[in-house]
Amino acid sequence: MALDLTGRQRAFRDELRAFYAKHVEPGWRERCADFEELGRYLLDWERVLAGAGWSVPTWPAEHGGRDADAVERAIFTEETARFDAPEGLNRLGKRLVAPVLWQYGTPAQREHLERIRSGTEVWCQGFSEPDAGSDLVNIRTRAVRDGDEWVVDGAKIWTSFAQFADWIILLVRTGAADSRADGISVLLVDLRSPGIEISPIQTISGRSEFNEVSFSDVRVPVANLVGDENQGWAIVRSVLQDERGADYCLARYSDIRRILTDVARDVSAAKPASAVHYSRLGTDYARVYAIQVLASDLLERGQRGEAPEGLESLLKLYTTETWRTLGDDQVRVWGSRYFDGGPAERLHDYAESRHYTISAGTSEIQRNLIASRILALPSGRRKGA
Ligand SMILES: Cc1cc2nc3c(=O)[nH]c(=O)nc-3n(C[C@H](O)[C@H](O)[C@H](O)COP(=O)(O)OP(=O)(O)OC[C@H]3O[C@@H](n4cnc5c(N)ncnc54)[C@H](O)[C@@H]3O)c2cc1C
Repeated sequence: MALDLTGRQRAFRDELRAFYAKHVEPGWRERCADFEELGRYLLDWERVLAGAGWSVPTWPAEHGGRDADAVERAIFTEETARFDAPEGLNRLGKRLVAPVLWQYGTPAQREHLERIRSGTEVWCQGFSEPDAGSDLVNIRTRAVRDGDEWVVDGAKIWTSFAQFADWIILLVRTGAADSRADGISVLLVDLRSPGIEISPIQTISGRSEFNEVSFSDVRVPVANLVGDENQGWAIVRSVLQDERGADYCLARYSDIRRILTDVARDVSAAKPASAVHYSRLGTDYARVYAIQVLASDLLERGQRGEAPEGLESLLKLYTTETWRTLGDDQVRVWGSRYFDGGPAERLHDYAESRHYTISAGTSEIQRNLIASRILALPSGRRKGA
């Protein structure tokens, strides 16, 4: 990306480049034999990032971040993609939990921020349940007040990285069973509490990113309620907005760019060259470039204090559908070699190209939100947050 950088932005870029040049180990993915090992590697990497002041560049300086502006955020993504640097294990803590804590948390709850920044406390997100994914207002995991504690019963599903996490940000029903969005609260729960069971779920890629997390008479101090009782829906909406926002999509852009470069290398080595592959990869490149432009526009609007309702859905849809198309093009280029004898990482990349069209709200839900929030179409019977 060619930009006229200020002195501060150039210093940001040069320091980051020097850090990555020194610390990123080429082939770090292949070196991890399984998902457990990858998890440990990414946890160690969190601490390397924190030690050099790079774990939370987008956080406000008052919480230990670098107050990175829109251009610095784009530089961070660009350099991360160029060096193929790991993202770390605690992306949910750093990107989703932290903004909740500084917006809604009590001073005691904000003490988690330093442990998240330093990579000593990993978080996961307990929102989805078997009958409440797109339609989160259906959650049934219940919290009942008993003196100074909440008693939690229920189960969450698709909880990414729970097996490595120390804490979970948990959606619970505190209102009547039919209270929908008006009876939801948010709790911070220590995963070592008695009554919690974490069961990994094996996925098509052979990895177990997902878990089922069950709660049986789990006691949580009332001080761990975030915001007010039954007022958690506003927090859910802001988390989902962050999860679909520019920083999240720019992090996915790094993955997409790495894959595109990998496919392009294979296509250019093939003899004879295929015009069809050239044409597809040219189109993919245009889409990848557009992600960066859209994300930068969203970041700049955010910096100007604008709240562009619905645009994060547009960016999320475009980013994840681009990755999905690129996944299909990878298979077209490599054919059966793709799944047979290729590096295990490619199978994982293909599976991931599907993942992100589902997580943080499916593509269908994003299309609904674009229809209602940008095009102002009547909402009819559509649901989803
Ligand atoms: C990689 C990945 C990581 C995840 N990590 C987490 C995590 O850490 N924590 C967590 O809580 N959850 C996590 N999830 C779960 C994710 O949020 C849900 O899978 C997602 O919200 C969809 O919910 P669901 O699976 O229940 O599908 P459903 O909501 O049952 O949807 C099934 C299908 O129906 C469609 N559909 C549903 N409602 C509508 C509608 N109103 N209009 C049109 N189509 C509709 C959907 O698009 C989908 O195709 C993760 C999922 C993935 C794939």
